[in-house]
Amino acid sequence: MKIVVLKFGGTSVGSIGRIKKAVKIITRHVKSKKKVIVVSSAMSGVTNDLISKTKKISNNFSPAEYDTIVSSGEQISCALISGNLNHIGIKSRSWLSWQVPIFTQGSHKKSRITNIFKSRILNYIKSGGVPIITGFQGVNSENRLTTLERGGSDSSAIMIAKYFKAEKCIIYTDVEGVYTTDPNLTKKAKKIKKISYEEMLEMSSLGAKVMQPASIQDARLNKINIDVKSSFVNRSGTLITQRKNISKDKIITGISFTKNDTKISLLGVIDKPGVAASIFEPLSKNFINVDMVVQNISSDGKETDLTFTIKNDDLIKTERLLKNNKKIKFKNILIKKNVSKLSIIGVGMITTPGVTYRMFKALAKNKINIQVISTSEIKISVLINKKLIKKAINSLHKEFNLDK
Ligand code: ADP
Ligand code: ASP
Ligand code: MG
Repeated sequence: MKIVVLKFGGTSVGSIGRIKKAVKIITRHVKSKKKVIVVSSAMSGVTNDLISKTKKISNNFSPAEYDTIVSSGEQISCALISGNLNHIGIKSRSWLSWQVPIFTQGSHKKSRITNIFKSRILNYIKSGGVPIITGFQGVNSENRLTTLERGGSDSSAIMIAKYFKAEKCIIYTDVEGVYTTDPNLTKKAKKIKKISYEEMLEMSSLGAKVMQPASIQDARLNKINIDVKSSFVNRSGTLITQRKNISKDKIITGISFTKNDTKISLLGVIDKPGVAASIFEPLSKNFINVDMVVQNISSDGKETDLTFTIKNDDLIKTERLLKNNKKIKFKNILIKKNVSKLSIIGVGMITTPGVTYRMFKALAKNKINIQVISTSEIKISVLINKKLIKKAINSLHKEFNLDK
């Protein structure tokens, strides 16, 4: 049986009109004699709205109840899609994760799919039906609903493609594929025909929202090819696949950036073994994600400065934890909101010397000050003023020939 998995993102099912358009795409696949499994996200805005409701009830809302309410958006969109398919004479029904069931492990809000029970869905497909499965949600061993982190319906689609041995997994979204950088930021962004899992993983982890990072890990481990396409226009999109399937002519594949970061510098920290651990322990216990970290070498061996970045949303909590931390002493704390991490990504940089220099030179030419630097094998990240992001991206896009 040849199965295709079609996943629709929030904007692609964001209104009744868009749902009808998604149903037209589904119908096209059904008519091509393929067996179709649909995975849908919630209508755009719904998940955000549900999250803001939990915040109004409590700033310490139970994670299990969070998953129960926040996963409900997908129930609505899936029922609307199958309702419209029924309306035009195609047999279809919605499947909530517990009805499949889709099993997950891990803590609430960030669970991962560990098993999918196939027989009910397969019987339904064999009976001629088109199952519309809720993305983003699962059920755990205590029979409670779970969610897969923001953007998690991408993971649902990829894991469903894995378990059902689908020949294709198509992610329908609101852009025509994966671009060299966010096409909603600059018109210079170019659609990428093929991208490796490794590069896509870096691009999405470093801010490209088009695919959820965890979903790319799932795809890479299970060698699932992913087609990212627009649900608005029928054009070829981007194939996310193994590195060996791609011939490369560019050093850099793409540029990602984050928004809403804050830089914190602790000045005059007493420099002794274990000091960094003492600073970060309470932050980690409070689930504050610390990103770029730099410690300056102290000239006298007694004091040092330590700089790191966090998300803007965590600032108040972080400041309180640092100031109340009896295990550390520092002279001053400097806080800079609205910084962005800008990253260039590409496997080509492994074998090409001078990429770092070219990046820094291009930024310097545009008078863009670099505040923090971090690198790995296939990416270079710099922290800059958020206001300069567009200018910086345009200059790097040009420097690394991504405009062509
Ligand atoms: P969906 O609701 O379909 O899951 P998302 O909003 O999660 O869609 O992801 C699509 C968005 O990702 C686009 O609208 C675009 O603004 C953003 N994006 C960021 N970086 C990139 C990139 N490099 N290529 C394509 N889209 C990107
Ligand atoms: N609806 C969920 C979210 O907004 C899942 C998804 O969009 O993939 O995060
Ligand atoms: Mg998404």
